[in-house]
Amino acid sequence: VTDWQGKHVTVAGLGVSGIPAAKVLHGLGAAVTVVNDGDDERARAQAAELEALGITVRLGDGATLPEGTDLVVTAPGWKPDKPLFTAAREAGLEIWGDVELAWRLRGPDAAPWLAVTGTNGKTTTVQMLASILKAAGLRTAAVGNIGVSLLDVVLGDEQYDVLAVELSSYQLHWAPSLRAHSAAVLNLAPDHLDWHGSMEAYAKDKGRVYEGNRIACVYNVADKATEDLVREADVEEGCRAIGFTLGTPGPSQLGVVDGILVDRAFVENRQKNAQELAEVSDIDPPAPHNVANALAAAALARAFGVPAKAVRDGLRAFTPDAHRIAHVADLDAVTYIDDSKATNTHAAQASLAAYESIVWIAGGLAKGATFDELVAGAAKRLRGVVLIGADRALIREALARHAPEVPVVDLDRTDTGAMLAAVREARALAQAGDTVLLAPACASMDMFVNYNRRGDAFAEAVRELASADG
Ligand code: ADP
Repeated sequence: VTDWQGKHVTVAGLGVSGIPAAKVLHGLGAAVTVVNDGDDERARAQAAELEALGITVRLGDGATLPEGTDLVVTAPGWKPDKPLFTAAREAGLEIWGDVELAWRLRGPDAAPWLAVTGTNGKTTTVQMLASILKAAGLRTAAVGNIGVSLLDVVLGDEQYDVLAVELSSYQLHWAPSLRAHSAAVLNLAPDHLDWHGSMEAYAKDKGRVYEGNRIACVYNVADKATEDLVREADVEEGCRAIGFTLGTPGPSQLGVVDGILVDRAFVENRQKNAQELAEVSDIDPPAPHNVANALAAAALARAFGVPAKAVRDGLRAFTPDAHRIAHVADLDAVTYIDDSKATNTHAAQASLAAYESIVWIAGGLAKGATFDELVAGAAKRLRGVVLIGADRALIREALARHAPEVPVVDLDRTDTGAMLAAVREARALAQAGDTVLLAPACASMDMFVNYNRRGDAFAEAVRELASADG
């Protein structure tokens, strides 16, 4: 679409993506109607702001398709089986998400996209990638699902050489024409299945990130499902499949040899068949899953032509966001780690694999997950477990099945002091050299506003114990 004058666009959902989308489309001359399920005070205030500009807003009815709609632009979180979309499909209309809109309006012209998706590690990888690209002197930004609107970035005044783009499975579902320079799927584990309908549908949406790639499709050698997605993708001629592995890399792979990140995919010197990029110790934290994230980021940067030295400098300059395996304190030779961002079992598995002898604080909202595999895999490394939150019984039962010897404290409280009590119990279980690890494997909303608050509560509790010691 190039001529928006007189086009009737229905925007589904007020909110972080709907409001900017409505404003941009209105500014281009489209006749915009925003439909929204909710009709609360906040929605009314937002509606008033849009109506003042001349945008129509229908509150309390996100189900019916307005008469005369030519195109639907949806918030990424809206489920594909909503009646609004059924009606749109029956009318033969296209449905675009926020990423599709950005792509169609100016995506390819703003800058090439290096895209990252996967069940876990997206934000970290995109930040590492941006750090590497910056170290190479490129004008870049970490954008997308990370919390920076692609629409703002591609339509804004700032010039970019390349963008490091985090994409969620929802965004990919609604972005049928997106074509990245190169893309990575970090890993695939069951998540958000209620939204996608099945594991197959979830994988298929993630796999969209590879469609039409020009230079490289980066996959995880240890996660065959990601390689299968590359094989199924329809890419530009000459686009290469590039693997990353924590082991010795094969041809067209990046991997690790004797603590050194090695590239065998993009080798500058034709005399050599491998290029050293950085040391594992350049990565913060150097836990295995995070080394994998660094390799994926390096692969995308190398696909863009970034020299080895910039990979090393970029990884050294990178510091992880809060609540992602953050070191809180050492107390009586016990290390306290906050991985509150481990909100699903796949993420918790990664952090539990990173330590030897662990007192594990876990629990919260399970979101339909099962815990047998997680608990069985970690059993040998558990000194003890402290359970919190609504769905603790699920973890307790899995522990009874797979780790019957491990002492478990089941904290039946959800008040504001619960985290302090949990940390106290954990401290009592820990011995010198152990790690007390908050990696809940669950969402936080039963006890906290979000995972940030949960992590803050943990850190505060640790500090309180430390100061009580004098
Ligand atoms: P996302 O943006 O995909 O949610 P983050 O980078 O914010 O991912 O990391 C979320 C959590 O997932 C981390 O706290 C860590 O526990 C875990 N994690 C990070 N990278 C990986 C990985 N490559 N594999 C498995 N788990 C990971």
